[in-house]
Amino acid sequence: MKNKIKIEISARHCHLSDQDAQKLLGKNYKLKVIKPLSQLGEFASQETITVKTKGGQLTNVRVVGPIRPKTQVEITLTEARKLKINPPIRLSGDIEKTPGAMLIGSKGKVNIKEGIIIAQRHLHCNPAQANKLGLQDGQSLAVKTLGARSVTFHNVVVRVKKNFDLSVHLDTDEGNAALPAGICSQGEIISA
Ligand SMILES: [Zn+2]
Repeated sequence: MKNKIKIEISARHCHLSDQDAQKLLGKNYKLKVIKPLSQLGEFASQETITVKTKGGQLTNVRVVGPIRPKTQVEITLTEARKLKINPPIRLSGDIEKTPGAMLIGSKGKVNIKEGIIIAQRHLHCNPAQANKLGLQDGQSLAVKTLGARSVTFHNVVVRVKKNFDLSVHLDTDEGNAALPAGICSQGEIISA
């Protein structure tokens, strides 16, 4: 099975709960959209925060909207080393028993008890695309990147939702290891 597919690289970012967004950015703050992302309804906001642990800090952590039920910070293993923490590899939303940190925004600070993850590599698609490719929510794929640094990534978890659009998401560590420069590139599904 060979299917060309778009690969996008997610830089470090966070999702904020309403309560935390108000503490960090101000009361009744509304996130300002600077760029819609490939997944319908998701957007890069104008806001960034700093994530601080006892071991170090990361600045310019982009807030990705919309507001979510729980605050979550997605970083790379390289960035985890800078913070001297050891977050697990998890799918978005699965933050139980993950490390916390101090989050610092333009208007305040919040101590989160948990919420820092390294994102599990994944493939987004809507039900029609899943059907066409014979994919099911939760299954794992191998995806090969194309080009001079071609690499096959295993354990790419399929996520099917109505608002999703076909795209593989890797983090910047994975992207730098496996793709030509740029935030968007091509690969192919080599096993399903
Ligand atoms: Zn994604």
